[in-house]
Amino acid sequence: MREVIKSEEEWSKELTGQQCFVLREKGTERPFTSPLNDNKEEGTYICAACDTPLFSSETKYESGSGWPSFFTPIGEQSVEEIVDRSHGMTRTEVVCRTCGGHLGHVFNDGPKPTGLRYCMNGVALKFVKKS
Ligand code: FE
Repeated sequence: MREVIKSEEEWSKELTGQQCFVLREKGTERPFTSPLNDNKEEGTYICAACDTPLFSSETKYESGSGWPSFFTPIGEQSVEEIVDRSHGMTRTEVVCRTCGGHLGHVFNDGPKPTGLRYCMNGVALKFVKKS
């Protein structure tokens, strides 16, 4: 059950066009376009739609993919993983558990300790610098 439920019309008023394309229409931003891809500051990455904390800078790493990459979410309940069979592939989609917004996909080629690569669209995230 989502804690934040809004109509697509409401989301389209609150989010930018690019945020809507990714979060609501499950689009993918072009690689190496998000300023968060190269961000190395300490802090927390929150959902751009509902502000739920999703990833910590402590688990961010340089994957070379062009998208912000993490080896684990911030908590077990922060994201939800869904089998995605679109585009002729079987992938695991990652959505924000609180609002259902599409964030990206998770792959099995990440670093230790999890071996996972949470490949996220930077536009679906906002960065909150550690104070
Ligand atoms: Fe959210």
